[in-house]
This record gives sequence, structure tokens and C-alpha cells, in this order.
Amino acid sequence: MRRKATADSFGLNQAIADNQSRLTSGTEAPEARCSGATLVPVAEGKHELLERLAGQIRSCTRCPLCDGRTHAVPGEGSPNARVVFVGEAPGRDEDEQGRPFVGKSGQLLRQTIREVGWREDEVFIANVLKCRPPENRDPEESEIEACRSWLIAQLVTIRPRLIVTLGRYSMALLMKPGLKITQIHGRHAIRDGFVVLPTYHPSAVLRDPEKLADFRRDIMKARRLSEVIDDNGRLNV
Ligand code: SF4
Repeated sequence: MRRKATADSFGLNQAIADNQSRLTSGTEAPEARCSGATLVPVAEGKHELLERLAGQIRSCTRCPLCDGRTHAVPGEGSPNARVVFVGEAPGRDEDEQGRPFVGKSGQLLRQTIREVGWREDEVFIANVLKCRPPENRDPEESEIEACRSWLIAQLVTIRPRLIVTLGRYSMALLMKPGLKITQIHGRHAIRDGFVVLPTYHPSAVLRDPEKLADFRRDIMKARRLSEVIDDNGRLNV
């Protein structure tokens, strides 16, 4: 089955199209922007562009969360990752260290990633929000709206074969609002030409260990899916 864009879009194709249009018209060369985030590597490689994005994220003041952060958390991993994991927002440990998923839930995620046969340095791990909400409260819509273009810019740059959403906020942003994670976890869909697979946020698994088997099964499915999507974006199942 060939991957293709659908009506359920998180805006990635439009962002790419806008960007290419600007480049073609020469109105914004050599860089192009999507809601303020630099998008396309013109003279830079993926690594350099991701580093530049990370620098811009660390100094971002687009929403009030910048006031309370110790460190922004852009994300980390391989610029050539076949799979990108997207969580919700940094917690206390992540805010202190400036790295994603380094607390207890991060240990569970990273352990599960290794268990299914990936190395941590061959995937990319990020969040919808790059700065910690106070007391780990839920993200607000305005914060997600302010921050989403950073994540989109990262995805445009990496072009992973597969995106694994962790929890309801990344699922709502990258799949479709209003879905119930208990009903659709482990069921992949195609959005904006990407294969997207939703699963539980590891912190939800820690709160309810009965979800652990499903979580592991979903990550194993992600591993298998990543192996059947070829370099031309075809899902060969
Ligand atoms: S949460 Fe996102 S939009 Fe808000 S300040 Fe941090 S990086 Fe900027």
C-alpha cells in the first residue's frame, strides 16, 4: 500500500508546500519558515538543521511557559531516524536536564525501545511542548498551537518512516482530535504521508501496570512496521 496524504492532516504537507513555494519564488531563500520555525535544509544537512532548530527552541518565547523553564527540551536522537517518538511535554527531570524522557517514564520508554531491538541513538524522541507546564499540568490549547511548528519542523527535517505518538496530546495533534487511546492504541493510520502509530504515554503505564503488556506490544508493532516501510515510503504489508 502506498502512503498518501489524507483529509486528516496535521498540516505537514501544507507546511512543506508553503516552504517549497517560498523557495521557488525566491521570496525567502535561503531559509524558509513555518510559523517562525526554519523548515528546509537548503545548504545544511539534517544534523546541522536540527541543531539550529534546537538552538531556536532553547531561546523561544512564543508562549508563557518560557518563564518557568529551567531548560527547554527540543528532543534528541538520530537525524536519520526511521521512527520518531512524540510525547506530551517535559517533566521535572527533563526540565532540569534539558533532555526528553529521562525520568521514570523515560526509563520505561527507553528500556522498551531497547527490548524490541532498537538502539536509543537510532530513533528520535521529542514532545509536543518543548517547555514544562507548571506542576506537570496538562498542556493548554494555546501552548500547543504556539509550539507545534517546532515539532513539525523537526519531522519535516527527519522525514521518519514512522511516528509513534505517546499519550493523547500527541495523538490528537498528529492523528485526529477526539480519539480514545484505549480504543485505537496499536492501530496505525496514515497522516500527511507518514505512518502514525498511537500508544499509551509511559507515565500512564506506570500509573496502571495493566497497560504494560499493550504498551510493549504496540512498540513491538512499531518496530515491525518500520521494517516494512521502504525508502520510497511504501508500506509493504
Ligand atoms: S513551550 Fe514551545 S512555544 Fe512555548 S516557549 Fe517553550 S518552545 Fe516556545
